Amino acid sequence: MGKPGLSALAQLPSIDRLLNSPSSSELILSYGRKEIKHVAQEALESMRIAIKQGGIVDTNEAAICSLIEQKITRDANGQIRRVINLTGTLLHTNLGRAILPQESIDAVLGVLRDACNLEYDLESGERGNRDEFIEKQICRLTGAEAATVVNNNAAAVMLILNTLALGKEVPVSRGELVEIGGSFRIPEIMSQSGCKLIEVGSTNRTHRGDFAKAFNSQTAMIMKVHQSNYVIQGFTASVDDKDLAGLCAESDIPLVIDLGSGTLVNLEDYGLPHEPTPMGALKSGADIVTFSGDKLLGGPQAGIIVGCRELIDKLNANPMKRALRCDKMTIAALSSLLQLYNHPDQLTEKLPVLRMMIRSIDDIRQLVIPLVAMLTGRFAGKANVALVECNSEIGSGALPDRLIPSVGIAIRPLQTRVNVDAIAKAFRSLPIPVIGRIHNGEFLLDCRCLEHSEEFSAQLSELKINE
Ligand SMILES: *Cc1c(COP(=O)(O)O)cnc(C)c1O
Repeated sequence: MGKPGLSALAQLPSIDRLLNSPSSSELILSYGRKEIKHVAQEALESMRIAIKQGGIVDTNEAAICSLIEQKITRDANGQIRRVINLTGTLLHTNLGRAILPQESIDAVLGVLRDACNLEYDLESGERGNRDEFIEKQICRLTGAEAATVVNNNAAAVMLILNTLALGKEVPVSRGELVEIGGSFRIPEIMSQSGCKLIEVGSTNRTHRGDFAKAFNSQTAMIMKVHQSNYVIQGFTASVDDKDLAGLCAESDIPLVIDLGSGTLVNLEDYGLPHEPTPMGALKSGADIVTFSGDKLLGGPQAGIIVGCRELIDKLNANPMKRALRCDKMTIAALSSLLQLYNHPDQLTEKLPVLRMMIRSIDDIRQLVIPLVAMLTGRFAGKANVALVECNSEIGSGALPDRLIPSVGIAIRPLQTRVNVDAIAKAFRSLPIPVIGRIHNGEFLLDCRCLEHSEEFSAQLSELKINE
């Protein structure tokens, strides 16, 4: 027997012939010669390997070009792009957390298109400070004496620990040694910041006396961490902010509170459960409070630090601050976001996070009814489609034990014909990928975050459901 594979090898076109073939001219027009050459080389190499392993390979130029196109579209899927979040988690860390208000989007575009006064004082014509815009706004909104911003809240916590407690001890209640998804765990953050964590109390109960016992000449500060993504229920006790502040004042050390998902509004005013605010924490006597920009605040990824002038000045003087500072996009987005908070009466309309949190079930239901009818048609004979009541959650560690009643679409595969993972994948493969969740064998699309259904329904004809 001869070796048919080897003759196939000889039939593979050279890269030049491939690039000059009529089939590739359109690809080159769309994606550029350099990109096509790169992908073509990869494609030819994998075909060579396949042939050597005895595979049957179509060496026709048109076939190779179609392979190249497939590869390029797959690579494009690897780029960051918008998706429709119907997971029911409003602030989904994997899906980019908060959706920003139009005002912030416009502000970002403005500073991207042109030069901006990021560090330039228009009044004096001299060098300015990039945090100044935000510092004034935050101080006005929170009543804090001083404020600064960094890249995210994890960075804020590290900067504080590294500045105020390097080489020293920081007592933290055992009930607050949180992990916020993978890489942010209080014990690790402590050691990476150069501090010694002193665990205090027990998991469910920590008392004032536990902290008092932990104090010594090496104690740099007390840190209180908001139990963002879990609740401890039952036989519990913790020391409230005022008591902690009193203890700290006696020893002349600062009380630092990591609020996680701080909000600048009183959520109870909107019929939502209470969530601690930076204003409240400062009032109770905290010397420094930190929170995220992209959680309940509803803005860009950022870590916002408020507190007394002396300590904030120390943070700003740490060289680490320079490494953790925000860029102009973040500052523009955050600054315009904070302006919205000056008009509390407009917040429920303009701030997407709040708007989605308080959106009424009836409003969602009105939007869902026609979608259910459309999807019933699309899935005829393959799956049952139904309007269902479901529960949304805020996510990102805000109000972990509180669910918000919502309405969604449940797609339940008819036995064995289609499987639920394939349905989820089909929605993910749409031009604007739709992300839902699989629950009890159904694919569930919680529609609380779906505000404009036209885009969603317009692409349903492209849904490819494989049997
Ligand atoms: C979310 C959270 C963090 C981390 O904030 P990022 O902005 O994601 O860096 C830190 N601490 C607490 C208590 C949190 O909830």
